[in-house]
Amino acid sequence: MKIKRYILIVIKKAQLSQFFLPLLAICCFIVLALVYIFYNPKPQAVETSSQSQAHVALIFEDAGMDEQEVQKLLEIDPPFNVAIMPFLPFSNKIALMCSQKKKEALIHLSMEPEDQNTIWLASRSIMNNTPDDEIERIFKDAMANIPQSRGFSIHFGTLVCTNDRIVEKLCNLAKENNMIIVDSTASAKSLFPRIGKQKGVDVISHDVIVDTKNELKSIQDRFRLLFNIAKKKGFAVGIGHLGQDGGLTTIEAFKEAVKDAQRENIKFVFVSDIVKFIKQND
Ligand SMILES: [Zn+2]
Repeated sequence: MKIKRYILIVIKKAQLSQFFLPLLAICCFIVLALVYIFYNPKPQAVETSSQSQAHVALIFEDAGMDEQEVQKLLEIDPPFNVAIMPFLPFSNKIALMCSQKKKEALIHLSMEPEDQNTIWLASRSIMNNTPDDEIERIFKDAMANIPQSRGFSIHFGTLVCTNDRIVEKLCNLAKENNMIIVDSTASAKSLFPRIGKQKGVDVISHDVIVDTKNELKSIQDRFRLLFNIAKKKGFAVGIGHLGQDGGLTTIEAFKEAVKDAQRENIKFVFVSDIVKFIKQND
C-alpha cells in the first residue's frame, strides 16, 4: 500500500508580510518579464511605402512634331514631364506651352542605337563617332531650342550609352547646366549611371514603359504595374510616347490613371522630384 506524503509549509502570519509576499511579487515580476520577452510579438517594421503617399513621375517622350497632340496632353492636370526632341517644327513652341501649363520639359536627345537602325533618329543625332566639339554644339543649340528644360533624356542611344568618351562629355554638360539625366536607353550596359555618379549628376532610370503596345487595355495594365512599383518602393518612373503610333491612346490611358491615382493616394510628380526620393533611399 502506497502512502502519500505531503509537505505542509507553515508560515507564521508575521512572516507572511515580511518574507512571503515580497518573494511572491518578485516571482510574478520574473514570470511576467519572461512572458513579455518570449511571447510578445515584435513591433512590425513600419511599412513606410504603404502608409505614406506613393509618388509617380511620367515622362511623355518624342514630342516635337505634333502641336495638337501635346495640347490634348497638356489639358491633364497633375505634374508630368514632356521630353521634346530638339530642332523639330514645334520643339520650341511645345517647350513654351509646357512652361505655360507648368509642366516640366526635358530635351530628348537623339543618339545612335546598337542595331544600326537609324531610320528613327532625328536630325543632329549624336552618333558614336561625333566629336566632342560637335556634341557641345548640338547640346547648346538644343538648350537654346528648349530653354525651359530641366534635363535631358535619350532617344534610342543603346550604342552611344556605352561610349565612355561621349557619356563623360554629356555628364559634364549636364553638370555645368545643373541638369538631370533620364537614362531612357533601358540598356544594362549603359555607362550613364556610373559616370553620372562619379560626376555628381543625378541619373534617373525608368521602371516601366507604359505603352509597349498600342492598346488601351495593355497600357492600363502597365499603369497598374507602375502604381504597384510606386506603392512598394515609394516612387516609380514611367515612360510613355507621343506620336502617330499610339500617343492618343497613351494620353487616354493617362487620364484614367489620374483618376485611379487619386483613389489610391498616389501623387504624380516631376521626374526632378524623384531625385530626392532616390537620395532618401540611398
Ligand atoms: Zn524617343
